[in-house]
Amino acid sequence: MLNERELIDKLRKNHTLSRDEWIRLIRNRDDDSAQYLFAAAREIRHAVYGDMVYIRGLIEISSYCKNDCYYCGIRRSNRCAQRYRLSREEILGCVDTGYDLGFRTFVLQGGEDPFYTDNVLCSIIQNIKDNYPDCAVTLSLGERSKESYRCLFEAGADRYLLRHETASERHYAVLHPPELQLSNRKECLYTLKRIGYQTGSGFMVGSPGQTAENLAEDMLFLKELNPQMVGIGPFIPHKDTPFGNQPAGTVELTLFMLGLLRLMLPNALLPATTALGTLDPEGREKGILAGANVVMPNLSPAAVRKKYLLYNNKLCTGDEAAESIQRLKERFASIGCRIVTDRGDFRQLI
Ligand code: SAM
Repeated sequence: MLNERELIDKLRKNHTLSRDEWIRLIRNRDDDSAQYLFAAAREIRHAVYGDMVYIRGLIEISSYCKNDCYYCGIRRSNRCAQRYRLSREEILGCVDTGYDLGFRTFVLQGGEDPFYTDNVLCSIIQNIKDNYPDCAVTLSLGERSKESYRCLFEAGADRYLLRHETASERHYAVLHPPELQLSNRKECLYTLKRIGYQTGSGFMVGSPGQTAENLAEDMLFLKELNPQMVGIGPFIPHKDTPFGNQPAGTVELTLFMLGLLRLMLPNALLPATTALGTLDPEGREKGILAGANVVMPNLSPAAVRKKYLLYNNKLCTGDEAAESIQRLKERFASIGCRIVTDRGDFRQLI
């Protein structure tokens, strides 16, 4: 039987492992295997993307959501959540600010808010593209119909982020109410890819009830989907949700999963997420050192940032804020990486 280092070598060479091998590697991980993994992940990231870290300006357009995911602070049943939605002018204002700061990708993220019809969104996307043809627009607005995804793509959206959250049916039902189905989530992801979006999926690490078997399922599903982007971050409880008293996921396991993802999908765009930075002041640097190559500073108007509260203590005004881009550049330079002013499209090199 292969030991952990040998499993990592095998993953690096074949970009895949069997279900049992994933489980064994995740369960038996220790500091030695983690350091070995991160060194390999950095080498591969360097081979594909050099020293470049891409920045995406995150604009949180709405804290209204029609869904009721048990983990999420903006779920519809949270009566304490502060709700807001940004107007077209406010969103375009964020893009203007971001462009001046050097951003060339804008991520429009929000709860599933029926206010943002296809017409409303298409006109916002077209406006961004007319004003800044050199920029990419990424959407992260949850599950929509095939027709809607197509219409937004035709309006100019380039990328779509939709985490599958967990690839196990049973675990999906622990995290979501019955009206939300993993099969629909997966169908949306395949549709997005077919339409031509650069597609991102991902999962929370350490969400309630998650096992090493579930994480193995996540890796097998991601291998099959073969997305261009994968967003993972630790689960962090929000006090006004059913999971308010559950323990948070760990930085340690999140970093290990990031390293594994870099070896499995060498070309993928992997963000070091805000959730990682929330649990550890150096979480984003650690994410980059484990194989990530994207950061998504917050470009939302300062007045609403505290209202998009997915989990307790979410960072929103420190170095993760877009205004602190210079400070972020210095922090990444200290670990040998360079933040670039670039759309940062997916590259298929390996
Ligand atoms: N509504 C869109 C969707 O469902 O994809 C985008 C917004 S949703 C709030 C963005 C992501 O936040 C989710 O995919 C989920 O993984 C993450 N998230 C929500 N609650 C979280 C929590 N308590 N801890 C960590 N991440 C969380």
